[in-house]
Amino acid sequence: MNKKIKMGLVGGGPGSFIGPVHFRAAIMDGHIELVCGAFDSDPVQSKASAEIYNISPKRAYGTWEEMFEKENSLPENEKMDMVAVTTPNHLHFPISMKALENGFHVVCEKPVTVSLDEAKRLAAMVDDTGLLFALTHTYTGYPMVKEAKHLVSRNQLGTIRKIVVEYPQGWLSTPLEKTGNQQAEWRSKPEYNGPGGCLGDIGVHAENLAEYITGLQIDELCADINSFVPGRALDDDTSVLLRFEGGARGVLWATQIAAGEENNLTIRVYGEKGGLEWRQHDPNTLLLKMLDQPVQILRAGKNYSNLSEIARWNLRIPGGHPEGYIEAFANIYKNMAHAIQQRKENLPVDPAYLDFPTVHDGVRGMRFIEKVIESAAGSEKWIKFQG
Ligand code: NAD
Repeated sequence: MNKKIKMGLVGGGPGSFIGPVHFRAAIMDGHIELVCGAFDSDPVQSKASAEIYNISPKRAYGTWEEMFEKENSLPENEKMDMVAVTTPNHLHFPISMKALENGFHVVCEKPVTVSLDEAKRLAAMVDDTGLLFALTHTYTGYPMVKEAKHLVSRNQLGTIRKIVVEYPQGWLSTPLEKTGNQQAEWRSKPEYNGPGGCLGDIGVHAENLAEYITGLQIDELCADINSFVPGRALDDDTSVLLRFEGGARGVLWATQIAAGEENNLTIRVYGEKGGLEWRQHDPNTLLLKMLDQPVQILRAGKNYSNLSEIARWNLRIPGGHPEGYIEAFANIYKNMAHAIQQRKENLPVDPAYLDFPTVHDGVRGMRFIEKVIESAAGSEKWIKFQG
C-alpha cells in the first residue's frame, strides 16, 4: 500500500481503556494514520486530545456530530476514510449510522448496539451502503485462533460434537461501579450499557469465538444468569447450554465475579477425530489433540511453514517472540486497511482481508444477549435462537 488509510477516532479520551488500544493497533503496520477524532464526552477534553494523539488541533473536534460534518466538507484526498467507534455501548448505533450516512467505513466496538432492533437497522444500513464494517471481537484476530478455524474448516477434527468456551474475569467481584471507576460505572447502567452486563461485555466475545472457529451457528439455548454483587442492576455471571446447527452441543460460561481471574478466555472444540484447545493467557499456543495420538503443540511464528497461510498472514515475527492482544487488534485493522484500499482501486476484495467479524456477527451477538435473558427469565427448557 503506497498511501495510508485515514482514520477518525471516537472515544479514547483521557483515562479511557480501549480507544488508545485501537489507536496503537491501527497504526502498528503503517497502513493507517489517525487524522481526526472526537475523543471525549467533554468537548474541551476532546480538543485537548489533539496533543496526545499528535494530530492537527483543527481536526480534534468537540463532538462526533461536528467531526462528521467538517470531515465531509473536506476534499476527497484529505478527509478520513474510516472511523473507529470506541465509546460506551449506547453510542455505537448513532455514531455508526452517521458514519455510514456520510460514506465512511466503520470499525466498531462490541456489543454492536444496545438492542437487537438497533443492530438489525444498522446491518440493513451497512448492506444498503455497501461500506465495510468491522466489529472488534478482538480474539478472532489472534493467529492461533485463525489456525484453529482453518483446522476445523478443513475437517481435521471431523464433524464437530462438543464446544466448550469460558470467559472468567474477576474485576467486578466487588461493587466497583460505586467507587468512581469509569469503566465499571457506565457498564453498570442499562441506559449506557444495554441489557446484558457480563453477557454484553464478555459473553458475546465467547459466543462469537465459538461460532468463528467452528463456523457453526447456535440453534437453541438454555441459560442461567445471576447478579451476585448486591445492588447491581445487570448480570455479572452467565451459564448457557448450547445446541448448534448440525447437532454439536456446547457449554458457554462467562463471569466477572470469578475473584482472582484476569481474562482467562479458553475454548475447546472436539470433533469425531480430535480436538483443539486455545487460551488467551497463552495465545501463541494451540493444542491439537488427535484420537490415539499424543497432544501436539502448535506455536505461532511467521517462519513456521506448518501453519496455514491465513495464520501466517496475521503474524509479524518469528516464533518465540510473543505477539499478543494489541497485535490481535492490529490484525483487524491491517485487514480492514487492505480491504478499503482494494475498494478504492475498484478491485474485488481478497477474502483473507475480510476475515473479521462484521455487523451481521453483531446482530447475532445482540440476539444472543436477548435470548439468554429470555431463557433465564422463562420456564421453557430450550428456546430457539432465531425467532
Ligand atoms: P471507557 O469508559 O474507558 O472509554 C470510553 C471513552 O468514550 C471515553 O474517553 C469517553 O470520554 C468517550 N466518550 C463517551 N461519550 C462520548 C461522546 N459523546 N463523544 C466522544 N467520546 C465519548 O470505556 P472502554 O472500557 O474503553 O469501553 C469502550 C467500548 O469498548 C465499549 O463498547 C466496550 O464494550 C468496548 N471494549 C471492547 C474490548 C475488546 O476487547 N474488544 C475491551 C474493552 C472495551
